Amino acid sequence: MKIQTKAVHSGDRKRAQKQIPVSTPVHFAASWICSDQAEQDRIFGAEEKGFAYSRYLNPTNEALEEQVTALENGYGSLACASGMIALQHALMAALLDRPKRVLCARDIYGATLKLLYDVLAPFGIETRLVDTNDMAAVQTAVNEFEPGVLLMETISNPLLRVGDIPALAGVCRAAKAALIVDNTFATPLLVRPLELGAQIVVHSLTKYLGGHGDTLGGVITTDEEHFETVRRLSRIAGPVLGPMECYLTMRGIKTFPLRVERQCRNAQGLAAWLRGHAGVERVYYPDDPAHPDAGVIRRLLDGGLYGGMVSFELKNARTKTEVFSFLDRLRMCVKATSLGDVHTMVLYPWIASHRDVPPKQKERMGLQENLVRFSVGIEDLGDIIADIEQALR
Ligand SMILES: *Cc1c(COP(=O)(O)O)cnc(C)c1O
Repeated sequence: MKIQTKAVHSGDRKRAQKQIPVSTPVHFAASWICSDQAEQDRIFGAEEKGFAYSRYLNPTNEALEEQVTALENGYGSLACASGMIALQHALMAALLDRPKRVLCARDIYGATLKLLYDVLAPFGIETRLVDTNDMAAVQTAVNEFEPGVLLMETISNPLLRVGDIPALAGVCRAAKAALIVDNTFATPLLVRPLELGAQIVVHSLTKYLGGHGDTLGGVITTDEEHFETVRRLSRIAGPVLGPMECYLTMRGIKTFPLRVERQCRNAQGLAAWLRGHAGVERVYYPDDPAHPDAGVIRRLLDGGLYGGMVSFELKNARTKTEVFSFLDRLRMCVKATSLGDVHTMVLYPWIASHRDVPPKQKERMGLQENLVRFSVGIEDLGDIIADIEQALR
């Protein structure tokens, strides 16, 4: 089945009842009654699959997990309370029987760096950063550092770099390290990292998959080798998503291929328009033939969809105060953190996602003070352009 069909049908309408609800209800139960004690014994002992306690398994969570597993072509999924706890749980599961060292892409979500340095480092998990678009640098770092995990994003934030997942997966396989890919920006409509050799995929469900800016959530999807560990640790630690959020996210996912396709088309149109505007210094969008990763993009993003994120540098606004004036002039675009919603959103990485990134590292990344990042929505493209045009003046 194609992803558009899976998004609508997977997970739902599964129960063996005479009349089946077309959508999975929200199961607000903390625990379940078994038919007898022997059955409860088998379920507690994980000899039989069944519902006993919501920290272990909940029917609404299970439906969402099945849906995401189908989209990513994985073995199993775990719905988590946020994208960040999904990342933490995935890292702990992958590092359980590997060296406690994470080789992390230099261009990565700010909170992910904080997770590594402020939360995991005090527990003895070491981190080293690497430019994942430089294969020689990755190979050297893997040889020297001997990581247990390589962590990266499919499309990086905010400069939209695209790493060569198949090649990186090959390096990891040879070194017995797990490749964890944060696929939030690309979504499984554009790239399915497990098909390309990654072992674990993580999403912030809060973004494109949920898509409506109304729920926080995360999900881990793994290959067969890692799923038992992810589930076993989760049964103990309970990073799980609540059933209401699972329901809302599942509802959102049904339309995600439609939304994301439209967002990609709008983003491509906006990027093309921005390139021709005198008030714009430089546009970052992966369809650019001069993109530093153009070769990888041609292979990985082979469906002609390049994502819904567009970043650009302002020509006449070089300082923070001048960028503020541009942002304050926007009327329709939503000025709030997050991305992937149905509405167009704008974020200023300098004061938001990359606020705490040291100046030297910003320079190495190529992140300028005049860069703004748009998450393009599903509105009419002309209306999006009109709002940005009047603010650019
Ligand atoms: C938002 C985001 C996260 C964190 O997800 P939350 O749901 O906010 O915890 C992780 N990675 C990327 C790429 C994100 O955009």
